[in-house]
Amino acid sequence: MTGGKIHDEDISASSQWSESTAARFGRLDLDNSDGDGAWCPDIMSEPDGLKQYLQVDLRSLHFITLVGTQGRHADGMGNEFAQRYRISYSRDGSSWVGWHDRKGRQVIEGNKNAYDVVLKDLEPPIIARYVRFMPVTDHSMIVCMRVELYGCEWLDGLISYSLPDGHQMIYRGIDVYLNDSVYDGASAERLTKGLGQLTDGTWGLDDFLHSHFYGMWPGYDYVGWNNKSFPKGYVEMIFDFDHIRNFTSIKVHCNNMFTRGVSVFRQATCFFRSGSEWESPPVSFSPTVDRASQRARFVTVPLGDRTASTIKCRFHFADLWMLFSEVAFQSGSAVYNTSRSARKQGHPTNIPVDDPTHKVDDSNTRILIGCLVAIIAILMTIIVIIFWRQVWQKMLEKASRRILDDELTARLAFQTQNFSFHNSSLSSEGGSTMNSTYERIFPLCADYQEPSRFVRKLAEFADSMESLDNETTGHRSCKRLAGGPDPPHYAEADIISLQESSDQCSITVNMFDSSMKEFPRHKLSFKEKLGEGQFGEVHLCEAEDMQDFLDADLSEENTESPLLVAVKTLREDANKNARNDFLKEIRIMSCLRDPNIVRLLAVCVDTDPLCMITEYMENGDLNQFLHKLSLPDETTPGYEAGGETTVNYSKLMDMAVQIASGMKYLSSLNFVHRDLATRNCLVGRNCTIKIADFGMSRNLYRGDYYRIQGRAVLPIRWMSWESILLGKFTMASDVWAFGVTLWEILTLCKLQPYAHLSDEQVIENTGEFFRDKGKQVYLTKPSCCPDSVYNELMLSCWRRNAKQRPSFEEIHLCLMESLQKL
Ligand code: ADP
Repeated sequence: MTGGKIHDEDISASSQWSESTAARFGRLDLDNSDGDGAWCPDIMSEPDGLKQYLQVDLRSLHFITLVGTQGRHADGMGNEFAQRYRISYSRDGSSWVGWHDRKGRQVIEGNKNAYDVVLKDLEPPIIARYVRFMPVTDHSMIVCMRVELYGCEWLDGLISYSLPDGHQMIYRGIDVYLNDSVYDGASAERLTKGLGQLTDGTWGLDDFLHSHFYGMWPGYDYVGWNNKSFPKGYVEMIFDFDHIRNFTSIKVHCNNMFTRGVSVFRQATCFFRSGSEWESPPVSFSPTVDRASQRARFVTVPLGDRTASTIKCRFHFADLWMLFSEVAFQSGSAVYNTSRSARKQGHPTNIPVDDPTHKVDDSNTRILIGCLVAIIAILMTIIVIIFWRQVWQKMLEKASRRILDDELTARLAFQTQNFSFHNSSLSSEGGSTMNSTYERIFPLCADYQEPSRFVRKLAEFADSMESLDNETTGHRSCKRLAGGPDPPHYAEADIISLQESSDQCSITVNMFDSSMKEFPRHKLSFKEKLGEGQFGEVHLCEAEDMQDFLDADLSEENTESPLLVAVKTLREDANKNARNDFLKEIRIMSCLRDPNIVRLLAVCVDTDPLCMITEYMENGDLNQFLHKLSLPDETTPGYEAGGETTVNYSKLMDMAVQIASGMKYLSSLNFVHRDLATRNCLVGRNCTIKIADFGMSRNLYRGDYYRIQGRAVLPIRWMSWESILLGKFTMASDVWAFGVTLWEILTLCKLQPYAHLSDEQVIENTGEFFRDKGKQVYLTKPSCCPDSVYNELMLSCWRRNAKQRPSFEEIHLCLMESLQKL
């Protein structure tokens, strides 16, 4: 839903409160669209929740293992959510089944507030095409929902199986229920038109009295039958498929506790039907009777590439009882269906053809095991060494996470500062605590500047890995231009001193521009609201006599009077921290002068509300600007290059060049931006791009920032691994963010980076960069991006070793060269 794979027309609902809360707005994590931030039905007058629903059509059968729900937050405007809900599903769109968990409970605990996502593991999973979310309330009220579904396409093709329901066994006084307790079809003499335990992706244990699921009754994982109830000596099962398929085999997971009278079937005979008649001859198969091992196992019955849309199999008893827990079909060249272990990871996969359970069919297993023992003994030594190394690595990683938690959140401390501006005293009070909703991140307090032994060890470890990388990895494609040394790596604390503390760093002193003039407020006249940021609203204003305030370079270009300007105002209820940050942004911007950096023209800080007046960028921020555009489809007849809603690759590259140029300027001042992203670049006339936002985070893009334990927010999808894990923000981490920004530009900001990963998974991925075992996931190549730009530029920005990432000078040159070639 979030990623847009499910189209608006496939999301429908029983009703909607208004057009702006229609079904299509019920997408998890999306609240910035045209609507009011969620799907909201008519007032809930039916407490049982069966009347109102949000329906998703997945267009084909899917195996769904997890769902997520969220309420309507709408940037603080909404507070409606579903505390409880039910799910119902359908495979054909006409017969609907209410989902219930393994204990029969239908109502699912939903959300506790309007913004947090609550995930629900579906046990048992659902195999369906249509899914309905049905809010449940105690009384008449308005509820709103945003939802997401997780799973994969159900390629098995099996749409139902029919069989006699399982029996009850009494084993040494214990009642063992061997019925198909999650079957979702009809149950009369036989179970018909449904799927259940045999397709739930869970294989039974060797001892059928025990279950994978805590608190379930003995025999829960199996469906089993007693020989005495079947005079013909077999159990007949019928399997219906979505269409005619070519079947290679069927795999049946069977119990084999022969000491308790349970055995794998003696023989299977399968019949095939593509039309109305069963075709002859049937296929028969007799597995080897195994009286040596009591292990449960998959038994594979070859089906001889027979074509059918329905298969009927008769499984003959070899003992008093026959117990099955799963069936899977192999049709064509692939085996489908899912395994429990695979599903647990959220990636249902094929049962591998060389599944080790196959080997159990072979009575030579013990000989094989004997041989393996010898090999295992030799491998043990190697494993111990590897294990030892992994434990050590995990310890380091855990500690780094702890540092993140402890240092980034619990010990979040603001460096306080006294700040004077234009000889007027606007001093902020010191010793502030984090007590408001506005939270900037200056994560590392004085302790971090004096790293503890462990932090030092971690840093040494990272450094040693980096030097190892230096020795082993290839050279970069763009040559370093300014032969000088790499920009230094600063820990966060260092950056704070560099950018905030005037007595420690000459750059800061030089950068402070005391000539920034106070602009008379009465000369500003409001035209319209441009947007809203973290600090407050941004307005378009006409400024009279602004020319007197402009530098020479600007006054030549801006001769008109009154001049259009953007005025960013600090909201009146802003707390001390917000005020400090606002003033800090002014201080930073006042000393930046570059064609690709938004220019601060003047300020109003003598009285409240504080305002900063910047040049007006008439096309707003780059993210929204690009999002509205598309790449031209040159194959479309009548297409004209440069049409209003299209943008071509060279224009995109030109934008990237401008950002690289602005960053090159910042890096020449050793200034680390820390939040480079398209949302923080503004677009002016003729697609001029300027970097802005020297503060942090914006409500509109709340989803781009990750909240650590509900306190600080970080733009993790743009952050380098070392910024996230070690709190290290450097030019090189800005380069990483540039790589992500370039990716955003070339994908026209249609998706958030790593849209398929949750915030937690993004952080996990960061751990993979740290471990460097080749398991890290990179953003994929945008379709319009040439291989050379992706491989040589984008990927080089995400090199693990920060020293091996290109400088902005190199990036700028590289981009210019590739632009010239176009
Ligand atoms: P914050 O820094 O608090 O996140 P922003 O500076 O990003 O706030 O401003 C919020 C919105 O205002 C932006 O999305 C953009 O559309 C608009 N905006 C900000 N500055 C300008 C400007 N100089 N010209 C035009 N629009 C602007």
